[in-house]
Amino acid sequence: MNIELQGISKTYGSARALEGLDLSIEDSKCLALIGPSGGGKSTTLRLLAGIEKPTTGEILIDGSSLSNADEHLREYRKSIGIVFQAYNLFPHYSALENITLPLTKVHGYSEEDSIERARELLRRFHLLEHANKKPAELSGGQNQRVAIARALGHKPKLLMLDEPTSALDPEMTAEVLEVIEELVEGQKDVIIVTHQMGFAKRVADQVAIIADGKVAETGPPNQIFENPESNFTRRFLSRVLKY
Ligand code: ADP
Repeated sequence: MNIELQGISKTYGSARALEGLDLSIEDSKCLALIGPSGGGKSTTLRLLAGIEKPTTGEILIDGSSLSNADEHLREYRKSIGIVFQAYNLFPHYSALENITLPLTKVHGYSEEDSIERARELLRRFHLLEHANKKPAELSGGQNQRVAIARALGHKPKLLMLDEPTSALDPEMTAEVLEVIEELVEGQKDVIIVTHQMGFAKRVADQVAIIADGKVAETGPPNQIFENPESNFTRRFLSRVLKY
């Protein structure tokens, strides 16, 4: 994927989330957005996902401009998959139904095709035996894997994840990150907001440090983690890698 954010600002009322953010990423399979809380990572991801519109600036994905027209954004959103922090599964539906529902309601699958696709994904993520369980009957890691399966249902080219492991304990975090690593190895393009520096180092091919509504630094992980250019990045990493 190629991503270009040019002069992006985003304000919520009087609160400024992003201010003059520029980001240019070429030919990446896995982009990790990292940085201090409140720095603007989630906002950047929501803009890239077409869930929100920038106040000013332009977004290009693979060379195509993301227009601010609602119709265009609706279509664009159908072409990507999104996973949020706290799974956002429908609590009253089973794992299988959580995957089939968007396929039938949004993506035009028949009932039969949606069930076939959901079972294929549940099998792939070792969740088939839990197909009929509701979110409350599954662990956090299992729910997050269902959420990833759901996001992949319609075979999006690009998967975006916003802190997908922040609500999970270390073992479940590992189980979810392994799934994401497999997806990247399987040639799925991924953009992930994460606090998991080990994952960013190991799996991402590009890292962007976002702080104070701007990009502080971008580069391949070995450069960012071993030889950062900015003092800000150096200070931030030494703080988060301390313990
Ligand atoms: P990060 O993901 O790096 O923690 P966010 O993108 O969530 O940062 O937030 C960036 C800034 O924008 C924060 O100061 C946050 O409080 C503010 N912000 C984000 N979303 C909203 C919103 N919907 N309404 C008001 N302020 C928001």
